[in-house]
Amino acid sequence: MSRLIEAKGLSAGFGGTDVLSGVDFHIDGGEIVTVVGPNGSGKSTLMRMLVGALSPRAGRITRMPGLRLGYVPQRLSIDPTLPLSVSRFLDLPRPAGRAAKAAMLERVGISALADRPLAGLSGGQYQRALLARALLVDPHLLILDEATQGMDQRGSADFYALIATLREEMGTAVLMVSHELHVVMSASDRVVCLNGHVCCEGAPEIVSSAPEYRALFGTGTHGA
Ligand code: ADP
Ligand code: MG
Repeated sequence: MSRLIEAKGLSAGFGGTDVLSGVDFHIDGGEIVTVVGPNGSGKSTLMRMLVGALSPRAGRITRMPGLRLGYVPQRLSIDPTLPLSVSRFLDLPRPAGRAAKAAMLERVGISALADRPLAGLSGGQYQRALLARALLVDPHLLILDEATQGMDQRGSADFYALIATLREEMGTAVLMVSHELHVVMSASDRVVCLNGHVCCEGAPEIVSSAPEYRALFGTGTHGA
């Protein structure tokens, strides 16, 4: 199986504050990996370094040559209140063909919404539009940072079911950051628990019983 991204000894910080130190991380083709950790533990910072949006203070990141990344950031740099239709939004940052856009909206289940203003979508519809945009590059790896934040339980279950289907159909590896530990634990091949450094990682059942994990999240299924 091909290694898509490998990171060694990553450190990150802002001003005088260290956010991450000594983080080793990798993801292979087809894997579903979830990063969990308390608020402010450096999850989004790690994602931004992996996609190349932020330079590490130390360490190095190796990406498979030609790696195509679909990235749904936690906070989008595009103002969601801009008067922009869903279809036009899919042209950012680069124009996409009409047929490709229509097919992708169909795939994520919002084909009827192509001409709607982006600002008029519900939270779940909006996240699906972001997902469609990320999928347009035909990614080897999809990175989703808190993609179901603000959705109700049903909405987020539907969203993760869609991700599982897409992974089956397209063979895309998925790296997600999630607060919804109950979902994560059943849907991931591997879980990485972050708290400024990697405190534990492995198969979901191993991580959920690790003392380092329990110290952060307790023994319940909800947390963070
Ligand atoms: P998480 O995603 O795990 O909640 P983040 O990676 O977003 O955490 O943030 C980790 C820490 O780094 C937080 O304390 C946050 O305030 C800080 N931080 C993140 N981005 C910046 C930035 N651009 N400038 C200054 N501090 C930042
Ligand atoms: Mg975050």
